[in-house]
Amino acid sequence: MLLDNKDAIHGIEIETLNIANALSYGRQELQSSDSPDVDTQVLLCHVLDCQTVYLHSWSDQELSMAQQQQFEGYLQLRNNGRPVAHIIGQRGFWSLDLKVTDATLIPRPDTELLVELALAKIQPTMTVVDLGTGTGAIALSLAVEHTDTTIFASDYSEGALAVAQHNARANQLSNVHFIQASWLTACQDECFDMVVSNPPYIEDDDPHLLAGDVRFEPLSALASGADGLDDIRLIVEQAHRCLRADGWLLVEHGYHQAKQVRDLFTGAGFNHVSSHQDFGGNDRVVMGQLTL
Ligand code: GLN
Repeated sequence: MLLDNKDAIHGIEIETLNIANALSYGRQELQSSDSPDVDTQVLLCHVLDCQTVYLHSWSDQELSMAQQQQFEGYLQLRNNGRPVAHIIGQRGFWSLDLKVTDATLIPRPDTELLVELALAKIQPTMTVVDLGTGTGAIALSLAVEHTDTTIFASDYSEGALAVAQHNARANQLSNVHFIQASWLTACQDECFDMVVSNPPYIEDDDPHLLAGDVRFEPLSALASGADGLDDIRLIVEQAHRCLRADGWLLVEHGYHQAKQVRDLFTGAGFNHVSSHQDFGGNDRVVMGQLTL
């Protein structure tokens, strides 16, 4: 416990804790995390309501007792496995700060690849839909770059949609329309020029589902059948029905699923099918065009 005036941290008696001490204390406490350094900085910035650079410029500044107490509470939650994004209730994605709750997947930096690829194809007159929008990460990133484009964001989960709608308002984005829906099941017409999705794609029995941050994320946003491809199979088939001529489909997938996903695209009649790698060098997105 950090709070007693006469408490000791790693053998050093302290009366109060300054930023430098808090950082080294946090790093020690979070050894079970994959990223103790970054986690400590993000949690401390949230307590102090500051940017990371402030921690280094003002390392002598002392934390108030309330701040120390809050910081200690955050470290305990993190040590119990809680994702940092859930503790602070937000995650940065693209240029946006997004609210995150346990009703949504935590947006991953890898998904920014899908945003980049979509942006390269989007024209202002297009109608775009993001399926399984979660926090709204993809739809809102496209919307912030293309304020004239009509963007739909769908999710089956009402809890996720509420978060996504909050994020649209908080980021003052009014060109995104939200729909509660299961993929494109209810769509019978060729009404979209682009379909994008980061659907669940983990195999049901993948042991990774039992470790780390994903334990705290909704299973429905993560797992998708024995080979992880149940939802991608549906999306590819439904997108073929709902895309206009020359429309694009872009789907994120697991690092080992590129060939299977490309085969699904070509099997459904998509052309110009290509794979794209994320920042870690893993195949992460397949895109294809429906040229008639
Ligand atoms: N589209 C959201 C994201 O990429 C949610 C994805 C999901 O829930 N599988 O963060």
